Amino acid sequence: MSALLTSAKESLGALADLLLPRTCLACGRRLDVHEKQLCIYCKADLPYTYYWTRPHNPMADRLNECIQRHLSEKTTEAADSAEPYAYAAALFFYKSGSGYREITKALKYHGNTVAGRYFASILAARLYESEQFSDVDLVVPVPLHWTRQWQRGYNQAAVIAKVVADGLKHAEMEPRLLRRGRRTKTQTKLSIDEKSRNVSGAFQVRKQPEFYPRHILLIDDVFTTGATLSECHRALREVYGPEVRISVATLACVGA
Ligand SMILES: [Zn+2]
Repeated sequence: MSALLTSAKESLGALADLLLPRTCLACGRRLDVHEKQLCIYCKADLPYTYYWTRPHNPMADRLNECIQRHLSEKTTEAADSAEPYAYAAALFFYKSGSGYREITKALKYHGNTVAGRYFASILAARLYESEQFSDVDLVVPVPLHWTRQWQRGYNQAAVIAKVVADGLKHAEMEPRLLRRGRRTKTQTKLSIDEKSRNVSGAFQVRKQPEFYPRHILLIDDVFTTGATLSECHRALREVYGPEVRISVATLACVGA
């Protein structure tokens, strides 16, 4: 019976593909009924970072540099408090000019939340197996300003965060923990210093969860300079002491 159902499902899938062909996000090749989002060639070549297996990696270094810069701007007394090295991991790299850029563009600009959830589930499985991330108990997406979320209809980081929280099994997602108090310029065309100034002080903790977390995971779609995520880290540190670990995970990481 179940074999019959499976074959009926496959036939329906094949029929749907015939009427409305699905294409590979990265190369545009037509997908067959067994392929999801990427063709077998692009899936096999997906440039995984494997950063979930490396507590110290270039992405985490970049994030921690931003965090330390914030601390050095504070008074000496505050800067003395020991800030633990923050863990950070992305699922895959952006190579310049590569089609893999289309994965996060599809989620952010074209409303393709199905693709976002698919890649988020792969990320979640990697984080669940990882020593650094398996004990995460609270997942927090980087918030959009409410006017931008209203325009887009959803927050792409929250789409990823929901899947990651489910995949981590012992974690809850709290999309309203952070708020973006002011609308910031799109970061893509700004220099590193401009990016940092653009998001400085943009986030606040709005509503604390019912329980006191031990390990918070901040989620965004793409990691570039670390400016946005380190600002979220700073806002959380205003409320949570150094005994609470704050880590970062994204779908993509732009190469240095
Ligand atoms: Zn392809």
